Amino acid sequence: MNGLPEVSERSAKCWRCNAAVSPQDRYCHNCGAGQGSLIPWYYSHLGIILLTVLAIGPFSLYLVWKSPKLSAVARRVYTVLILAYTALLAVLCWNAYRLMMQMLSGYELGA
Ligand SMILES: [Zn+2]
Repeated sequence: MNGLPEVSERSAKCWRCNAAVSPQDRYCHNCGAGQGSLIPWYYSHLGIILLTVLAIGPFSLYLVWKSPKLSAVARRVYTVLILAYTALLAVLCWNAYRLMMQMLSGYELGA
């Protein structure tokens, strides 16, 4: 009887370290990670999309796999989309490089 309320209070788990936390806890007692609404913004859908497109590209896969806010299906969808986006950027960069080399070789020949 004495242990039951404590078990129900500590039923939630920290998203980062899996330590038991109370649903009312704002931070994990073990690792200090924010819980609930205090999970960092870059683990959210919008944060991952913005960071992928504007800043870190395929390195955002780390955030996708670590994020406590994404479901297993969302993780797979984001992984496929980020890899496709990275491949598209690689193809575009390769085409731009080839075009630039063609233009430079044209200048050398005086054409
Ligand atoms: Zn923790």
